[in-house]
Amino acid sequence: MSKNFLKKTIIKNMKHLVKTKMNLGSEGNISIKSENGFLIPKSGLKPCNMKIDDITFIDSNGHFSKSEKPSTEWKMHHYIYKERTEVSAIVHCHSMWASILSCLRINIPAFHYMVSEMGGIDIKCSKYATFGTSKLAKNIVLAIKDRNGCLISNHGQVTIGYNIEQAIHLAFALEKLAKQFYFCLLSKKNKLLSKKEITESLQLFSSYKSTH
Ligand SMILES: [Zn+2]
Repeated sequence: MSKNFLKKTIIKNMKHLVKTKMNLGSEGNISIKSENGFLIPKSGLKPCNMKIDDITFIDSNGHFSKSEKPSTEWKMHHYIYKERTEVSAIVHCHSMWASILSCLRINIPAFHYMVSEMGGIDIKCSKYATFGTSKLAKNIVLAIKDRNGCLISNHGQVTIGYNIEQAIHLAFALEKLAKQFYFCLLSKKNKLLSKKEITESLQLFSSYKSTH
């Protein structure tokens, strides 16, 4: 796929995230892996005005053109691609319910079998660090280990995929789970799945993935 096609794909999906209220204004970002690096929007731009030239390239060593300042969260993307070579796209959102849960700094436990779609028996919340820092990027890499998504303390969420469609889908899936779990927390009456039950679900999800 050409770089221009990938840049257009990023812009289309950035607009979609604003339209669906997953992000507001210039919040969040999307990156897609490209040859020897990845593509990501420049810093502080609103998706509604984004043009192809507003998407910049960062190489696999984290180098970029000095005249093209990338999104402040580029390190989060760079560290994830370095650790998870199977990943081709990353979606970062400040969506409402994931952000609310992230402010509680709690992991989402196995309250619903769909938690396993995120790749594990729970969904982690990364430790807090200032936005845009290497420390935050490292904390996220730890929280998303063996998972397809995580919460980011007092911040939002991030999801990863083999392609952009999967990463976008998981962002919405994580947002839905966060909302559901918030109401379960309020009720104080929810019942969690046992480790055996969520592990069974997880196995079904991984066999589904490998056969479809
Ligand atoms: Zn952010």
